[in-house]
Amino acid sequence: MKRIYNFSAGPSMLPLPVLEKAQRELVNYRDSGMSVMELSHRSALFTEIIQEAEQLLRELMGIPENYKVLFVQGGASQQFSAVPLNLFGTNGKADYVNTGSWSKKAIKEAEKYGDIRVIASSEDANFTYIPEVEGSMIDREADYVHITTNNTIEGTAFSRIPDTGNVPLVADMSSNILSEEIDVSQFGVIYAGAQKNIGPAGLTVVIVREDLIGIAQETCPVMLNYKTHSDKGSLYNTPPTYAIYMAKLVFEWLKELGGVKEMEKINREKAQMLYDYMEESELFSSPVKKDSRSLMNIPFVSASDDLNAAFVDEAKEAGLETLKGHRSVGGMRASIYNAMPIDGVLSLVAFMKKFESKHK
Ligand SMILES: *Cc1c(COP(=O)(O)O)cnc(C)c1O
Repeated sequence: MKRIYNFSAGPSMLPLPVLEKAQRELVNYRDSGMSVMELSHRSALFTEIIQEAEQLLRELMGIPENYKVLFVQGGASQQFSAVPLNLFGTNGKADYVNTGSWSKKAIKEAEKYGDIRVIASSEDANFTYIPEVEGSMIDREADYVHITTNNTIEGTAFSRIPDTGNVPLVADMSSNILSEEIDVSQFGVIYAGAQKNIGPAGLTVVIVREDLIGIAQETCPVMLNYKTHSDKGSLYNTPPTYAIYMAKLVFEWLKELGGVKEMEKINREKAQMLYDYMEESELFSSPVKKDSRSLMNIPFVSASDDLNAAFVDEAKEAGLETLKGHRSVGGMRASIYNAMPIDGVLSLVAFMKKFESKHK
């Protein structure tokens, strides 16, 4: 069977054992004579799947009792609207940190619903670093502070989560959820599209502190209101059932592997191999400031656009795919989420070395 190393930023690789288990269970799930795709979302078998998925996620992330886990649709992009619509109950204002393309989209959407202040930004240097965020910068009257913990396109990540005091911290964690240990109690809301570290596209996970549920504006659409999904255990309407099943298999795989702590160790090792090589390389370099580098998305450049293009083509022939950088940044980008095996990164570094010796 031919499997390549897929460095796509999302949808991205899934663990092979997960795909194989899904394959084994595809046409006849637990002797039901049906696929999970064909099960009613109110059936006993699916109820078990969604409850187990939630339980596993709670265990993996250490989610406290006073937080709800919601399985919704619409992607992280829909949360750009859902967050202000749910949280602008009190003062109608929020502070945002602008660290890249996704932050900018979140800001633009929130501006439709209230007063948005950008309290820190790295736009002045093409988003190649994470700006300092100090408690003193935060408006004590803001309904929330919003950050993007990992910037998928620019390859930066917060190495320290800012302390926002009593103002709830909201995080778009789409591209680094479950990749390293975090303290959920530092956040009011965490949201993530599934297609990077959780499972297939179509599912969005929202983790929300209970006191932030039920304060939405009157005009908040029912499908965007956290209360709707919280009251009904994510079964107000038909949830993305198969994506939830796949997420459950990914959570089981991660637990088996030793949980997020073990995953973080492996992720640090993988990223370090690439960054270390770039330090010594005379051809490849990272555009990102050292203290702001992501473990998940690693952009790099060579000496010219032509050489970058040649690299991407030749890498593909060698079974290393989707290494082209985002159109807004150029160069290359290796996305090495949880499911990317160490061997994939070893192969990439070996290929980079070979390419460098050929083009010196
Ligand atoms: C991928 C991504 C998004 C967009 O997610 P969708 O599910 O496609 O809406 C938003 N924010 C970040 C940080 C991402 O990586």
